Amino acid sequence: MTDESQNWMEQARNYLEYQVNLGFREVLLSRVEENRIELSPLEEVREELGECTRCPLHRTRHSIVFGEGNSRARLMFIGEGPGADEDRQGRPFVGRAGQLLTRMIQAMGLERVDVYIANIVKCRPPENRNPEPLEIRTCLPFLEGQIAAVAPKVIVALGRVAACALLDIKDSISKLRGEFRDRNGIPVMPTYHPSFLLRAEPDKRHKAEAWADLQKVMALLDRPDSGSGDNL
Ligand code: SF4
Repeated sequence: MTDESQNWMEQARNYLEYQVNLGFREVLLSRVEENRIELSPLEEVREELGECTRCPLHRTRHSIVFGEGNSRARLMFIGEGPGADEDRQGRPFVGRAGQLLTRMIQAMGLERVDVYIANIVKCRPPENRNPEPLEIRTCLPFLEGQIAAVAPKVIVALGRVAACALLDIKDSISKLRGEFRDRNGIPVMPTYHPSFLLRAEPDKRHKAEAWADLQKVMALLDRPDSGSGDNL
């Protein structure tokens, strides 16, 4: 060891002793611990996504809307993509449609923190257009990572775009809804998107159908009688 490095070590030792004498031992140790913290599987997906520019949607977005909720949720809701409110806040389903989704979750006897909510694409398509096939294909692996990390018992696909992307089929939501379909061993219940339900008001028929779909999901989660659709 050179004189210079010996001198440096001596200075470092003195500094650490000084910090310990000041009562900073725990802070120093916790910093060491911090460096050892491993990312959760969901955090790993987020880290991998980074400040994504993999598809054209990055050009017009303000925020990446990754998804949120219980990282071990038994129930996952997947929509199409962020809207203007979500793009501004960086959170999924926070606008008017989001408020209806929250009421749907509560009608099932749950809260948003009990479930995990995400979208097929994580950046807002301009003018709220549907995401293009290329955009869906590019973003989907990250949603797949989220599904694998959360490992829900059941997924509710909100709207045609989400249902078709998740199930790799093409059909209308009115034909797809109401029946569970398998996606890599996880049952997926397609139902109407809350935005559609808002547009379809005051015709309550679609809300009643959506509630019937959610009741099937509740039965699968062994909570057949734990909610009420009266306030949807
Ligand atoms: Fe990346 Fe997905 Fe955003 Fe496209 S939509 S830029 S793939 S995060």
